[in-house]
Amino acid sequence: MNARCAWHLAMALVPLVQAPVEAQGRWFKGNTHAHSLNSDGDVPVDAVVRWYREHGYHFTFVTEHEFFTDVAPLNGLFAAGNRFLVIAGQEVTQRVADPQHTGGVRQVHVNALGTSRLVMPIGERNIATGMSIAATYARNGAAIRAAGGIMQVNHPNFIWSVPLADMMDLPDSTLFELWNGHPTVYNLGGTDSTGQVMLSTEARWDSILSRGKLVFGVADDDSHSFKPQDAENTDLARPGRGWIQVRADTLTADAIVAALRRGDFYASNGITLRDVRTTPTEYRIEIAPAGDRRYLTEFIGKGGRVLATSTTLRPSYRITGTEGYVRARVSDSSGRMAWTKPFLTP
Ligand SMILES: [Zn+2]
Ligand SMILES: [Zn+2]
Repeated sequence: MNARCAWHLAMALVPLVQAPVEAQGRWFKGNTHAHSLNSDGDVPVDAVVRWYREHGYHFTFVTEHEFFTDVAPLNGLFAAGNRFLVIAGQEVTQRVADPQHTGGVRQVHVNALGTSRLVMPIGERNIATGMSIAATYARNGAAIRAAGGIMQVNHPNFIWSVPLADMMDLPDSTLFELWNGHPTVYNLGGTDSTGQVMLSTEARWDSILSRGKLVFGVADDDSHSFKPQDAENTDLARPGRGWIQVRADTLTADAIVAALRRGDFYASNGITLRDVRTTPTEYRIEIAPAGDRRYLTEFIGKGGRVLATSTTLRPSYRITGTEGYVRARVSDSSGRMAWTKPFLTP
């Protein structure tokens, strides 16, 4: 072997040496909910994509209302190996007629993620009549799966629209918005116009998980307002307020959607985790600390009960098998949060 051959061999080995060492893959930061001028956003879709690319994201879905975006030209301009990708999708802007409710309809939007074509909501002007919210979720979920994608249930507290009961039969592996960055979707819950209590998204999650259903909580932006002059306007749906970190081997639409279907991600609005790992007997997390912030991790089980707490950067919980499920919520001293995947105990 001469020096030149040795050099070629060494270069051939470099990618192998530098490849992620964990079989489970690496983290890719992404957003599952964004709008442009193609629906009710305020900038062209390329400006939306550019914002995410320039702000440390690895991917974004583009989810216009009833408009399917061909992402190939966008990826021609913006995709970059394992560093950035645009993934196709849409928002299915379903409404359900209810004369008793504000505006005569309930808003039961869902996102189609990773689809290959447009999925239309049920009914004229997107209004389903004589149909329950739960039935629209079932129908739209099936239509999204038939188009090759997965369903994300959006903002259940938007205009106080979705009673918890309608979410209880969502199929396993459905995503739902635990934290949506839009200022009027009321993640923390409240009461509807009749005084009915509408639970926070996180309490909804615990209720669904307590039934033994494995649904996955997402944080995203529902971004509509990208103009730089609006950067400080908290009344607008600005980007960068909620995201997911997805664990995958490679940055392709198929790999990201498959990881979402497995729930192999965590949701965040400001906390970074280095690792999240479960075995049948242990749930382990490693937090990436920022500055001198302090962290509290709560391990949560059936009924939303706090099973254990930790203030370390490597919190862990010994699973007994009687918890129903175990998930974790990490919060920091400035109020930011991260939420990890639920693990159902036998
Ligand atoms: Zn919506
Ligand atoms: Zn939206």
